[in-house]
Amino acid sequence: GLADKKKQFAVIGLGRFGGSICKELFRMGYQVLAIDINEAKVTEFSQYATHAVIANSADEKALLSLGIRNFEHVVVAIGDDIQTSILTTLVLKELNLPNVWVKAQNAYHHKVLEKIGADRIIHPEHDMGIRIAQHLTSEKIVDYIELSNEYSIVELLATSKVHNKSLIDLNIRAKFGCTILAIKRGEDVNVSPMPEEVIIEKDLLIVIGHKNDLKRFEDEGL
Ligand code: ADP
Repeated sequence: GLADKKKQFAVIGLGRFGGSICKELFRMGYQVLAIDINEAKVTEFSQYATHAVIANSADEKALLSLGIRNFEHVVVAIGDDIQTSILTTLVLKELNLPNVWVKAQNAYHHKVLEKIGADRIIHPEHDMGIRIAQHLTSEKIVDYIELSNEYSIVELLATSKVHNKSLIDLNIRAKFGCTILAIKRGEDVNVSPMPEEVIIEKDLLIVIGHKNDLKRFEDEGL
């Protein structure tokens, strides 16, 4: 919504990962502060951010002078320099910033980030690998979000098997234990559809549930 667009994001580290986050947030119309220690990076990103500044993110004073306290969301996307990533995260959590998401390089890095209070730890290659494997093995799965080891949200393509059937007819929650959060038809998104809603072939169903239940629905229900 409109109120959301007032949310302010800071992205620290403008490599491939941080850079694409920054560009995408900015493209979506959010306020983004882009921070990097490398002048060339900052120059490159000045057109893809609300502000792009040169700073060493491990330096608390430098971050404070950028008004980092005002940022509800901060992404730490410092790649190879694990020590700097940890120091930066520590500074941000000591400042009590509520949402600090950090890219982790390996299991040790992850463990330390967890201890110092990183709010979300991301392993881009690992997470993307899982997602691609899901895509590779299913023609029906269009997109996939892992919520935990057990639960996920999938975007499934409605087949002819469910064509012209209502949610009541299909009774997905009772039969498979999963819930349809939304139905996408072209550009239209129907969020929390009514039980009478009729599905047509090629609709995209956004479904939440236990992975086993989702798999069962995908295999037997579609
Ligand atoms: P990726 O694997 O996502 O491409 P990189 O390691 O290439 O990640 O990019 C990390 C970015 O973080 C680089 O642009 C680098 O200049 C920046 N960076 C490294 N140390 C600091 C720091 N102390 N403060 C701010 N930015 C930093």
